[in-house]
Amino acid sequence: MSVANPNAASVPPSDYDVEFRSLSDDAWYSVCTVLDGEKLTLKYQNFSDDDDSIFEVKNFKTLEELERLEDRFRPISAQLQDNECHKVVGGVVVCASHSFDGSDNRFYDAVVDDVVHKEHSFEQGGEMCSCTFIVIMQHGPVAGCFVNKTIESLCLVQSYACLDPNLQLFLKMVKERLQNEPCVLENKKSATSFTKWLNQNTKCAKQSPCKKRPPDEAKSNDHSDWSRDDNDLGGCSSVFLIDNLDKDLSPSTIVEFIHSRTSLSVQACVFPSMSSEMYTQGAIVLNCRKNLEKLSKFLDCQDHIIMSKRGRRIGSIKVLAML
Ligand SMILES: [Zn+2]
Repeated sequence: MSVANPNAASVPPSDYDVEFRSLSDDAWYSVCTVLDGEKLTLKYQNFSDDDDSIFEVKNFKTLEELERLEDRFRPISAQLQDNECHKVVGGVVVCASHSFDGSDNRFYDAVVDDVVHKEHSFEQGGEMCSCTFIVIMQHGPVAGCFVNKTIESLCLVQSYACLDPNLQLFLKMVKERLQNEPCVLENKKSATSFTKWLNQNTKCAKQSPCKKRPPDEAKSNDHSDWSRDDNDLGGCSSVFLIDNLDKDLSPSTIVEFIHSRTSLSVQACVFPSMSSEMYTQGAIVLNCRKNLEKLSKFLDCQDHIIMSKRGRRIGSIKVLAML
């Protein structure tokens, strides 16, 4: 991708009032947003539709992922005018164009290190700035380099203006979706083995043959009625019991969640619970051993913990039956 002046106006400039830091080259581009249902399209100024970037609500897995995208947007940066030279002082963050071949200008953030002032001239009634701005590029291929710039190649970053309404709505939709389903939290530092946690906290069905037997399994009989539900699960090859579920969690949410993270098609059910219980149990049903292993790997992955929307760690997974 390449870009000309981000403020060039081949379409009404008001349409391109958002800056987006591209995922492909980390440069800033002027974009306009189109929101169609749960799909956000970014259209790049002076580029064809083939270059559009498309984001869909359903593809976001974590809030962190959403925040990383949100950080790539900001209001359009304003081109500095010659008579605004005094605004550019040491420490100010600017958006600077940088050319790699004399014509391919791309925009990156830079911090002003110093300004070499020259007396401004006035030609044809307009003020002309001939100062040199020494900036340190902050990202892109020349990150960390000192570069001399003239005022035409600098834009002032608008840090505090409101974001585009389409973008705001899209971000809100993603947040709501993520908050209404179980989510995977990155937990690389304090990861605990799901199986280890299971072994410490498990409550196993007394009458059910478990393939993964925790050490204290024989002592537990809290849910001896779970075996009753085996028949309701329809003769599938394996059944995982899951614990600590929110009582209003729907089976379809579990199915959708597992599918979105593992591509596995499963069946699920949420068991009724006593009104005095704060949470409930459920089951995930799989149709073959290969899928069982894939699901086990996902559930036991040490890089994340699965949380309910009310913040409980969903777990206590075990194989109830291998039929
Ligand atoms: Zn100047």
